[in-house]
Amino acid sequence: MAHALVLGGGFGGIAAAHELRRRLPAADEVTLIAASDTFFVGFAKLWELGGIRPLADGTRRLTDLDAHGIRFVQAEITSLDAGKRTAETSAGTFTADGLIVALGASCSPKHRRFFELGVHNLYSANSLPAIKAALEEMRSGTIVVSIFGAPYLCPPAPFEAALIVDEWLRERGRRDDIEVVVTTPQPITLPVAGPDASHFLAEQLGARNVTVLTEHKVDDVEADGTIIFANGRTVHSDLTLGVPAASPPAVVSQSSLAGASGWAEPDRETFATNADRVYAVGDCTMVPTATAQLPKAGVFAEAEGKVAAANLAADLHGGERARFDGHGYCYLELPGRKVARVQGNFYAEPRPDVELSAPDEASFAAKQQWESDRLAQWFG
Ligand SMILES: Cc1cc2nc3c(=O)[nH]c(=O)nc-3n(C[C@H](O)[C@H](O)[C@H](O)COP(=O)(O)OP(=O)(O)OC[C@H]3O[C@@H](n4cnc5c(N)ncnc54)[C@H](O)[C@@H]3O)c2cc1C
Repeated sequence: MAHALVLGGGFGGIAAAHELRRRLPAADEVTLIAASDTFFVGFAKLWELGGIRPLADGTRRLTDLDAHGIRFVQAEITSLDAGKRTAETSAGTFTADGLIVALGASCSPKHRRFFELGVHNLYSANSLPAIKAALEEMRSGTIVVSIFGAPYLCPPAPFEAALIVDEWLRERGRRDDIEVVVTTPQPITLPVAGPDASHFLAEQLGARNVTVLTEHKVDDVEADGTIIFANGRTVHSDLTLGVPAASPPAVVSQSSLAGASGWAEPDRETFATNADRVYAVGDCTMVPTATAQLPKAGVFAEAEGKVAAANLAADLHGGERARFDGHGYCYLELPGRKVARVQGNFYAEPRPDVELSAPDEASFAAKQQWESDRLAQWFG
């Protein structure tokens, strides 16, 4: 009997655990360890923010994995010995025959300090009640959605948030008195999707009177709401919704899986690491493309988790191996319940071959279906 251990209960970890369960003999054990006992897709937070759908409606409990033959252990992982395939956790020591590391990204320590100075973390579900309360109260002033640094999770999400806030204010007749600004350290809105998609998104924001400040890397924030940029400019904000740069989780950066970047740097087709029968997937990895790196997004974490699980199952019992070919997509949600897809081959040379589909309501329905399919398959 073999034991496969999955560290992390997000997109990558859950997809990997299910794929392992599907491929491994029933006598083999699949264990998933995660600190949080709940799962929801990232965009469900923005739907809660915009009043589109309560977050609770899209939240599932990881204990439901037990009914699918996956043992869930809620515990804090404190260290990882990849060579020994051993994790130290608050629930004891776990050693396995194969390991898939899917611990996600953590928040840049520098940016964590900003959240102690009155900035709201747009990406944290815990911040949503305070953000909603602040929006309810606001009658005039400036709202800044600020991407503090890169890489950050889900490149389109901050711009989607700005459009959601814009719509929310318009519906309440407050938009004329409240300015909405998005700042990004990058030269265009969506470098990962290329100049055409970035231009399209900038036009959508412009049409809604949302100001976009590119090449504005945040250097510091002050308690009175002033945002200080590395280019010397300052912006006064009455309500700042901050997007932290992603940092490698300490458990990964302090392990032998970490490359020079501090992230796990697995093979980008098999997700094998430098340790035997140890794979790393999702946001805790740095996966190079011809021009930058694969976006940190759930669709990629899921695809990588499935590939890693197939390869680990083959390590343990033989059988077909899998490779990730770089194809994927991200959703870009626009006002009026319309969605465009940024899709293509992110591994293409000499640059990713990615394009933006025209936004439509059918793609919004497809995005809803995408979420409900996963919630049903993984937890139903
Ligand atoms: C607002 C927003 C919108 C988004 N929209 C989209 C979208 O439309 N499409 C898309 O594809 N992606 C989207 N994303 C990005 C997506 O949510 C992430 O890229 C995805 O969750 C990454 O999956 P992962 O499995 O790598 O990591 P995560 O989902 O972050 O999972 C990490 C897991 O590891 C656990 N963990 C971490 N450290 C420890 C530890 N020390 N001990 C125990 N457990 C630990 C966590 O509890 C968690 O279970 C969005 C993100 C946000 C914030």
